[in-house]
Amino acid sequence: MKLLCVAFSEAELPVCGGLAASLGAEFDVLLVHGSAGAGYGAAQVMTLGATEAPTADVLAPCVAAAAVGYSHVVAVSSMATKDLMARAAGLVGAAMVTDVVRFEAPNRFVRPILAGSVLATVETLVEPVFLTFRAAGIVPAEAGSAVAVAAAPPLGPELATRVATTVRGGSRPDLAQAKCVVTGGRPLQDAETFERVIGGLADRLGAAVGATRAAVDSGIAPNELQVGQTGKIVAPDLYIAAGVSGSTQHVAGIKDSKAIVAINKDPDAPIFETADLGLVADLFEAIPEIVAKLGPKE
Ligand SMILES: Cc1cc2nc3c(=O)[nH]c(=O)nc-3n(C[C@H](O)[C@H](O)[C@H](O)COP(=O)(O)OP(=O)(O)OC[C@H]3O[C@@H](n4cnc5c(N)ncnc54)[C@H](O)[C@@H]3O)c2cc1C
Repeated sequence: MKLLCVAFSEAELPVCGGLAASLGAEFDVLLVHGSAGAGYGAAQVMTLGATEAPTADVLAPCVAAAAVGYSHVVAVSSMATKDLMARAAGLVGAAMVTDVVRFEAPNRFVRPILAGSVLATVETLVEPVFLTFRAAGIVPAEAGSAVAVAAAPPLGPELATRVATTVRGGSRPDLAQAKCVVTGGRPLQDAETFERVIGGLADRLGAAVGATRAAVDSGIAPNELQVGQTGKIVAPDLYIAAGVSGSTQHVAGIKDSKAIVAINKDPDAPIFETADLGLVADLFEAIPEIVAKLGPKE
């Protein structure tokens, strides 16, 4: 197996290296933004040095051209990589598999379907295979020594123009990559309360903020914070769910978290079946108390 790992930033290299190491495969990287100091086991890093995130249609021809000679072209699962990799696979007539959680053979992969309640095993019939994989459970590779750098193939023509990019969530960690996530549900009432209570605890812990779909649909939290089957899949070391009922659709997005803590005033809430630690309490009393006990951030 020879992997090409498509990474949007250097932060994804440890997990790319970890995946390659777990498969005993050699790998190169196509890095969209920035430059790589260390390779995390990669033989070569092809850099694009893009300043703005290129749209998937612009990036796909570059990925397709770079794919020559590789058995697998892989990327960490996200909305952006599913869009990109499907287009690149289409350009070279390759197979495409999303959300791989296990490699059973070079052409056989396990991926969750039906909100994670069923694991499907799929086989691809052609090479290369384009796939996105879930980073949860992969042991990140060590930085290693400096890596050979080459220029990536050129970007394709622009078929659509990005009119505006709005970064929400400010300086908080990226939800999909964060080590700690604090999520709030429908009881948070409004955006201001959500930001004060959930955002306050998250900032104290250096955590990302997440939301349930009910919170998003009620206008309490922005869409990009939604966690679950139709939102982001997260796998932090610590997931704190406050005022979250624990629907199957929500749990589908959090069940790979290392530790789940639930704060819910209903002792029969389903979230307690998933949680490692449960606190039966009113979140509007419990969270300020937790923040007060943690004290000011150093
Ligand atoms: C096709 C489909 C896809 C979906 N995808 C997703 C998804 O990706 N993510 C997602 O989250 N949902 C998703 N849903 C919606 C999901 O079914 C639930 O409706 C949603 O997760 C419920 O959100 P919630 O827990 O915030 O709200 P609720 O179900 O209203 O639960 C609120 C909880 O807060 C507790 N509570 C109330 N007040 C307090 C308080 N003061 N202190 C402490 N606890 C309190 C209550 O006891 C309750 O358990 C999807 C649904 C469908 C049909």
